[in-house]
Amino acid sequence: MTKFARGIQHALLLSCLCAAYSLLLAGDKVRAAENRPPNVVVIYADDLGYGDLGCFGHPTIRTPNLDRMAAEGMRFTQFYSAAPVCTPSRAALLTGRLPIRSGMCSDRRRVLFPNSGGGIPAKEVTLAEALKSSGYATAHFGKWHLGHLPQFLPTNNGFDEYFGIPYSNDMDRVNDAPRGRAPFWDPKVKYWNVPLMRNLKVAERPADQTTITRRYTEEATKFIGAHRDEPFFIYLAHSMPHVPLFRSPEFADHSRRGLYGDVIEEIDWSVGQVLETLRKLKLADNTIVWFSSDNGPWLIFDTHGGSAGLLREGKGSTWEGGMREPTIAWWPGKIPAGRVALDLGSTMDIYATSIKLAGAKLPTDRIVDGLDLSPVLLGTGPSPRKTMFYYRGTRLMAVRKGAFKAHFITQSAYGGGGPKTHETPELYQLNHDPSEKYNVAADHPDVIADIRLEVKRHQAELNAPPSQLEIPLGKKK
Ligand code: MG
Repeated sequence: MTKFARGIQHALLLSCLCAAYSLLLAGDKVRAAENRPPNVVVIYADDLGYGDLGCFGHPTIRTPNLDRMAAEGMRFTQFYSAAPVCTPSRAALLTGRLPIRSGMCSDRRRVLFPNSGGGIPAKEVTLAEALKSSGYATAHFGKWHLGHLPQFLPTNNGFDEYFGIPYSNDMDRVNDAPRGRAPFWDPKVKYWNVPLMRNLKVAERPADQTTITRRYTEEATKFIGAHRDEPFFIYLAHSMPHVPLFRSPEFADHSRRGLYGDVIEEIDWSVGQVLETLRKLKLADNTIVWFSSDNGPWLIFDTHGGSAGLLREGKGSTWEGGMREPTIAWWPGKIPAGRVALDLGSTMDIYATSIKLAGAKLPTDRIVDGLDLSPVLLGTGPSPRKTMFYYRGTRLMAVRKGAFKAHFITQSAYGGGGPKTHETPELYQLNHDPSEKYNVAADHPDVIADIRLEVKRHQAELNAPPSQLEIPLGKKK
């Protein structure tokens, strides 16, 4: 063989080796992608009613993106938040635990305020912390409401990034704003001195709420692009449609349902942007997206509040309208398209399900109330959730088991009068009577006895810490 031929032979061998090596690398990459746990995106609305989406029956609000998400995914019609107001509901979503177990509820102060000194306790394992320990990139965009002091903020509780408002958009009202509810009917940004934060710093004050939905969305889609090659968790918690209502100029008079409809249609646009980004980046098949809300509609705000549809009452109440949320789960290729899950689920289950899908471990040194819903999502079995406990603050008001719900104490939403305790609980068969109109207690003493046993079991293992919501600012926790 000539020197030249030997050279050719070596070059050929080398290029074969290189090709084989790159095939091997590509194979590794495919295997890594195949083994990669799914990305998790939780989109959470604020004070959205059960009846406010097109795919949940609203006659005039148009939600084509959420409708498509539901058509491609799974709609849950019996899905509950763990509280009828913001702070405890969000604590439950992120800890997988009833707020009574973390101290994130109170009978005196329903939520955290700018003058609160408490927040999510460090010993709680947030969903972000659990997923981060499994190698996820994590981000929170939107309303936090689990404590505004530095130790309670998202970036000290498992999130790599945060952009949003630390509490509700109606807090920090300025002194010269109109009194009472007047500023809500014609809302102006300057009436509420709410900070918009980037990580631990105030980036803008007052937050320009007219563009806030759009900006949360842009942050979320940017984060998806930047982390496309690794597992990620995004908690996108819109500050709307909590009053005061604001939307971008593009959505002014967009809806036949007025300002409230404009706000929902912008949130729908936002959902479309997130899903489209996932599709474009070919991440849809490996991303589970949840859509839900923290509590029901704030009915005392007239047309600025939403609708619970056929459900009774709304925000603040443990009637169904306060805690049953319009919920959608989307994971193309995994969740069968177009299914309606009639099984029970809870926002706390998003915690347990995400941790399971990530291959991470649930905390074992405490009670976790969240259950793994993957059998329902993947169509392999029924929901493990058979019961739901309805708390208002620290009081257990009602318990659902199967189709029956027993109310031990009833109380209307805000402004609706004091609590009423029932010696014999009021009992409703929710599959027959979702509007809770017909008390069937007299016909089912056995069901009531069984639910009383559930309450006994539940209360025997309860060990409620002091409330975080009652700690004033300036006092060490
Ligand atoms: Mg809320």
